[in-house]
Amino acid sequence: MPDLVVAGAGMAGLVAAARARELGAEPVVLEKLQRAGGSMRLSSGVVWRHLDFERFREDCPGGDERLQRLVFERTDEGLRWLESLGAAVQVRSTGNPLTTGVRFSAGGLAAALFEAAGEVRFLTPLRERPADGTPLVLATGGFQANRRLLRRHVTVHADELLLRAAPGSSGDGLRIGLAAGGRRSEGLDQFYGRNMPAPPARVREQDFVRLGQLYARHAEVTSVEGERYEARTWSEVDVVQWTARQPGARAWFRVPEESLGERVRERTVSEMVEAAASAGAPVRRGDGSVSVETVAGVTATLGGLQVDERAEVVPGVFACGGDVGGIATGGWSSGLAAALVLGRVAAESALGV
Ligand SMILES: Cc1cc2nc3c(=O)[nH]c(=O)nc-3n(C[C@H](O)[C@H](O)[C@H](O)COP(=O)(O)OP(=O)(O)OC[C@H]3O[C@@H](n4cnc5c(N)ncnc54)[C@H](O)[C@@H]3O)c2cc1C
Repeated sequence: MPDLVVAGAGMAGLVAAARARELGAEPVVLEKLQRAGGSMRLSSGVVWRHLDFERFREDCPGGDERLQRLVFERTDEGLRWLESLGAAVQVRSTGNPLTTGVRFSAGGLAAALFEAAGEVRFLTPLRERPADGTPLVLATGGFQANRRLLRRHVTVHADELLLRAAPGSSGDGLRIGLAAGGRRSEGLDQFYGRNMPAPPARVREQDFVRLGQLYARHAEVTSVEGERYEARTWSEVDVVQWTARQPGARAWFRVPEESLGERVRERTVSEMVEAAASAGAPVRRGDGSVSVETVAGVTATLGGLQVDERAEVVPGVFACGGDVGGIATGGWSSGLAAALVLGRVAAESALGV
């Protein structure tokens, strides 16, 4: 008999199981898919926090301040713990002057956590809370892979969205948590994602990072009906959410030629445009500018279950990672850091530490 059942072998679930084992418990991790790592394996691997808490609040004003404080205060200790497990560090910086953190190799991070997590049962989705009362940690990653829930909560254009995430996260944690008596968080209509090259572009899982179109700040952004939008955030989370609500979930990014050399973190606008063109996206050139048609790519839903600072949904049921809502509401903060901190907290609380 396991001491703890963890649903989901992605970032939050593997963290919770590894922490539980460190505390002397014998958890079992159930995973819906045939592989571990969830969206974490596809990610850029940057685990980060804002440099100062006030800026975190400004960027994500609708989030639960207690959970934000917890993530902010426990990210650094979580990073040291990940390194102690042997997760391979690529760079000790985020490339963003507003944030601090570490870029891991996503594959290396997944491998180190998998090794530390103990027993993982693949192709074994959790369908309901264990009847025998074993403590449960929900870590199923949110509901971005569920078109029906996206249509209900996010956009009527849900069928047009590009899923820019692993395919397993279809809202099971939310459903099971609510059935256990849990409550929904704020911000169920919000998600993190990226504008991506529009069809007929071919976007494979391994292209999710490379094909991101992160230059709305240098572009004139318009819907297919000609409505304009001005980017408001450095993460451009507002742009992708706006795009998701436009016809076809699409938007054109028109960039004047003189802006093609601008850099957004490690890439130039020109490199991102050419990546979209080579993937097969509609691209128009002329009149001193280049325009790329993009589609909203959904990476992670930001609404989910409400938890307290112990990551508790209801007694005996805990949640972490994308299953927890209300942390980044109104903006974007590191999903990997939230999964790291709340995964550790969920294990500690479930074991009564
Ligand atoms: C392309 C890309 C780039 C990203 N880059 C970054 C970045 O640099 N920094 C950052 O902070 N975040 C980034 N993210 C987001 C980050 O990956 C997620 O926030 C993080 O993985 C969330 O962790 P999680 O454990 O909640 O979900 P996941 O890591 O996705 O794991 C959830 C797991 O649960 C499984 N599951 C679902 N339902 C069930 C069920 N019923 N029973 C059992 N298992 C189930 C899924 O199959 C999956 O394996 C990125 C994501 C993508 C896709």
